[in-house]
Amino acid sequence: AKAKGRNTYGFYTEDLTRSASARLELETRLRRALDNGEFVVHYQPVLRVADGALLGAEALVRWQPPGEEMVPPGAFIPIAEETGLIVPLGEWVLREACAQLRDWLAAGYRPGVMAVNLSVEQIRRQDVVCTLRSVLADTGLDAAQVELEITESSLMEQGGQATELLRDLKAAGVRLAIDDFGTGYSSLSYLKRFAIDKLKIDRSFIQDIADDRNDLAIAAAVVAMARALEIAVQAEGVEQPAQLELLRELGCGSYQGFLCSRPLPAAAFAARFLSAR
Ligand code: C2E
Ligand code: CA
Ligand code: CA
Ligand code: CA
Repeated sequence: AKAKGRNTYGFYTEDLTRSASARLELETRLRRALDNGEFVVHYQPVLRVADGALLGAEALVRWQPPGEEMVPPGAFIPIAEETGLIVPLGEWVLREACAQLRDWLAAGYRPGVMAVNLSVEQIRRQDVVCTLRSVLADTGLDAAQVELEITESSLMEQGGQATELLRDLKAAGVRLAIDDFGTGYSSLSYLKRFAIDKLKIDRSFIQDIADDRNDLAIAAAVVAMARALEIAVQAEGVEQPAQLELLRELGCGSYQGFLCSRPLPAAAFAARFLSAR
């Protein structure tokens, strides 16, 4: 399975989860890819449920090895996390997404808030706050235009250390979102303790919302709780008009999903969703 330079996408996903040497090779390739600028960021729009207005975008990384198929993050983020490569990669994504936001603002667009994913490994290192401050200083962005997404499970894993880190991130002025909400084992007490700005209801609860009463009940409960706590609430993975209609009835604030758009390259995102004021 090792035809140099002719690796298909299957090469990364299937073979590399099996053998240690193959994982090592992927690690080497990922390091080189970072040096060679082979990563790209795609942007998925975030819309207001009530009227479909654009509220922002989520930055999602992809790997584009030259002459090969684009590799989705699920095929390399886990290994980037295991090897620590996620730290420089995550920093690159944050810089790239913020630079893109600045460029769109400079062009007279209203792109809204830019959401960037933070991995558990980045959270573990306290210097993520320094990185953030440096990116904000370099781009001149207002911190409130940046939202950092942290999964519920990674937050729980960090315990007391997370409390301190999130306090520092809040102090830097960024917005904080809990990603994949509902999938981690956690106490809800952290919602107030951490001064969270937004909950993102995981796609697994949204996908059957129109057919499964339990999923609808969970979504309704999360929306009600978020509203009571004055935390914004966003649905992920909205694919069907019926799902969007239910979210509207529940009073869910915002959504993202293939119903509106898949994540797009920057130019395609701008062409479709941005216009000069
Ligand atoms: P996530 O943060 O939960 O991102 C949302 C994922 O759901 C994206 O997959 C997006 O394309 C997909 N999605 C959005 N709407 C729909 C829909 O209507 N239907 C379906 N089936 N899927 C939808 P993607 O881009 O493949 O990313 C997968 C995961 O990889 C992300 O999940 C996130 O955990 C991770 N990831 C992506 N970019 C980064 C990054 O820059 N840093 C870190 N640490 N993780 C990242
Ligand atoms: Ca996310
Ligand atoms: Ca998510
Ligand atoms: Ca997810």
